[in-house]
Amino acid sequence: MKRVGILTSGGDAPGMNACIRAAVRTSLANDVEILGIRRGYAGLIQGETMPMERKTVANIIQQGGTILGTARSEEFKTPEGRTLAIRNLQKEGLEGLILIGGDGTFRGGTLLSQECGVQVVGIPGTIDNDVYGTDYTIGFDTAVNCALKAIDRIRDTALSHDRLFFVEVMGRHTGFIALESGISGGAEELIIPEAPVTVASLCSRLERNFERGKKSAIVVVAESEQPGDSFRIAREVKEKTGIESRVCVLGHIQRGGSPTARDRVLATKLGMAAVQALLRGKGGCMIGEVNWQIAHTPLRDTWEKGKQPLSILMEMIKILSD
Ligand code: ADP
Repeated sequence: MKRVGILTSGGDAPGMNACIRAAVRTSLANDVEILGIRRGYAGLIQGETMPMERKTVANIIQQGGTILGTARSEEFKTPEGRTLAIRNLQKEGLEGLILIGGDGTFRGGTLLSQECGVQVVGIPGTIDNDVYGTDYTIGFDTAVNCALKAIDRIRDTALSHDRLFFVEVMGRHTGFIALESGISGGAEELIIPEAPVTVASLCSRLERNFERGKKSAIVVVAESEQPGDSFRIAREVKEKTGIESRVCVLGHIQRGGSPTARDRVLATKLGMAAVQALLRGKGGCMIGEVNWQIAHTPLRDTWEKGKQPLSILMEMIKILSD
């Protein structure tokens, strides 16, 4: 393998730059040329490239976002769009392609890998951690720590004012960020899609806690299908119990920022392992980390097989908050 491409796609995640750096430097160390493709699949279709050298990736390990830019491309979902993308891959003489992104990116990558002769390797980069084939995705740890800092600050106010707070965190259709920020922030209640609770049961638990003398509480809510839904839950809790509350939707601040050490190390390991996989001629897979070991998972499995949060973590919340 003499020439490979690299792109970031879908939602940006802290640590993507650390991953690009590792992939570029590992490629160059093995005499493989590496070409950056800007703005994910949209840039691949348009032929937007940037040369990647050692100095291109200097001083980026600490930066959030992605120096390659990212985008969502509806055109890539069509066979016509992918034909244009494949034409550009061939024009550039790329034998391998590294995709850093989430499950949507790997859906596209699965098709690309079937439709052209280029070896495609995925690396999980999304704050949501909702990708099968890796214990953690790049960016998740940073997002959890960002949510945790916010929860800690809100707890100061909740305690000072004897107030109930709803803190809504990101995670799309999964509750990974809510679960880990909730456990580490000592949340009293957790609302995540994997373990739905009714407003009635939430109310009775909150009322019981308040009757027992608790004066403040934090409910961590995963954004789920409908971001902003915590306003509805807070309103219904007030109607049923009379308990006043405040709602804080953390939103996009969870997506940016300097990656944590854990994310930088994971990104570096996966970036290196992706190039090593390509050098061995291994494509059509995602490089993840499972039980501290590098794991190769067929691209299709990454989005077809769902990933569930550890049930032990869900049990912990129930016991510790009581
Ligand atoms: P993420 O990779 O973070 O999950 P998206 O779901 O937005 O982000 O997916 C990123 C891009 O991957 C989309 O904009 C689209 O170009 C491509 N993609 C997503 N789903 C498909 C699909 N079913 N077929 C082909 N391409 C897809």
